[in-house]
Amino acid sequence: MWQIVSNSPETTALLGEWLGQAAEAGLIVFLQGDLGAGKTHFAQGVARGLGITEPVNSPTFTIINEYRGRLPFYHMDLYRLTEPEEGLMLGIEEYWYGDGVSLVEWPERLEEYWPTHFLQVEIQYGTEENQRYITVTAFGALPARVLACWRQKGEEHG
Ligand code: ADP
Ligand code: MG
Repeated sequence: MWQIVSNSPETTALLGEWLGQAAEAGLIVFLQGDLGAGKTHFAQGVARGLGITEPVNSPTFTIINEYRGRLPFYHMDLYRLTEPEEGLMLGIEEYWYGDGVSLVEWPERLEEYWPTHFLQVEIQYGTEENQRYITVTAFGALPARVLACWRQKGEEHG
């Protein structure tokens, strides 16, 4: 587990950027946090770290947005799924078990179908206005390897 304190939206995005640099094909990131926690800022950083230059916004209505970077990037927001089967119909599992990097907001919506290997990133409000607590947990070997690489980048930059 890795616990980080972010004191600005830019820091949260930078953390995401280092994850994007550390990411490997097949990585699934579950990004959790309340509305306004900073999920979109984090996701935009991940995209930047993967070398994606086009603008990245939460796919609230489309559910899945696909981008081409160093690796394919699948950004999903499952908030609007009314039942898990709807997610399966959209082929979400094919993305998860494919060769890109999947970043999933509101993964709770598909809890019955969770993979065994994923990197969990939880963003919580801190006690001060621009403060966020970010907790990272790796489940499985690939996520653990990515986490080690990500953490190293974080520590190199202080
Ligand atoms: P979400 O996608 O989780 O709803 P957003 O990334 O869209 O959240 O918005 C986060 C909001 O919180 C933005 O208005 C941002 O400026 C603000 N904010 C303040 N401090 C932070 C921080 N440390 N990290 C991320 N966002 C922050
Ligand atoms: Mg958002």
